[in-house]
Amino acid sequence: MADKKIIAVVGSTGAQGGGLVRAILADKSGEFAVRAITRKPDSDAAKALKALGAEVVAGDSDDPAGLDKAFAGAYGAYCVTNYWEHFSPEREGVQATNMAHAAKKAGLKHVIWSTLEDTRLKVPLTDASMPTLQGNYKVPHFDAKGQSDKAFADAGVPTTYLLAAFYWDNIVKAGMGPKKGEDGKLVFALPLGGQKLPGIAASDLGKIAYGIFKRGASTVGQRIGVSGEILTGAEIAAKLGHALGQPVNFYDVPFATFRAFGFPGADDISNMFEYQARGGADFLASRDPKLARTFAPDVADFDTWLAANVSAVLVG
Ligand code: NAP
Repeated sequence: MADKKIIAVVGSTGAQGGGLVRAILADKSGEFAVRAITRKPDSDAAKALKALGAEVVAGDSDDPAGLDKAFAGAYGAYCVTNYWEHFSPEREGVQATNMAHAAKKAGLKHVIWSTLEDTRLKVPLTDASMPTLQGNYKVPHFDAKGQSDKAFADAGVPTTYLLAAFYWDNIVKAGMGPKKGEDGKLVFALPLGGQKLPGIAASDLGKIAYGIFKRGASTVGQRIGVSGEILTGAEIAAKLGHALGQPVNFYDVPFATFRAFGFPGADDISNMFEYQARGGADFLASRDPKLARTFAPDVADFDTWLAANVSAVLVG
């Protein structure tokens, strides 16, 4: 244990970071040890990581001094932000910059930054065909992450940029699962603009991140976009129907309709799907299931995820 290289994991109690903590702990003979960073070391989620064998330390990406302590002595770090906790792209940018600076101060040898595209590079703010949000963004939760890539590069931190696909977990955790229509039949509805959707089991991102740390220096500077499988909306609906034992139809919701649903973030999510649909084959190529499996061969396809989650599909 003493001579293992420590990976400090921000977001350790969450989906991405939690998957990485578990992947490191599961590989007892591996070269890495894990330091789980959380704002709440006394939470049940943090205690569960401790019980699994993780070192758990306090750290908050809003607090640079605390981050310095949390990263000290580590070999590497997994850096993720949670936009959906505050809906502020500016705050997300500050959090990313704080982590980049702390990584530099600690002299970390390898950082994975969980980023997404700055969509404004392809859909500029002047493009009135997609609404501008919060004054300065097209897809706030993407743009702030993509813009923050520069913070890691400018700090001179050896960074690998990991881009996640849509979590299938949104089907059970974010109310995106099939719902009964007025005719009593199940409908799976998302605004896909006729395009395929790359998706992934959220916890597999941690397994992929572990594979990236194991591969090491050759991944520094790379942008690694991953998914578990790329499916049409109709294919997802058919697989949901098969697993549930009753037919599920797909409804491709117009982007403007989805935006008008009005729940917090509906406009951001609708713009995200529209950006992905406009990207077409280029976007699909940027979330490669084959590449994902070079880092973690057991990344789940949708049927595998569904088999483990079907009981929650109609509850979520
Ligand atoms: P999650 O499961 O929602 O958990 C959030 C994690 O972030 C927790 O571990 C929390 O730790 C930690 N955290 C939040 N604020 C923090 C802070 N100020 N300092 C330190 N830790 C903090 O998160 P996730 O799904 O792994 O990652 C969220 C990100 O994934 C979002 O930014 C989202 O845009 C991105 N993403 C989501 C999807 C999707 O389909 N849903 C797809 C791609 C990317 P404590 O509470 O224990 O401190």
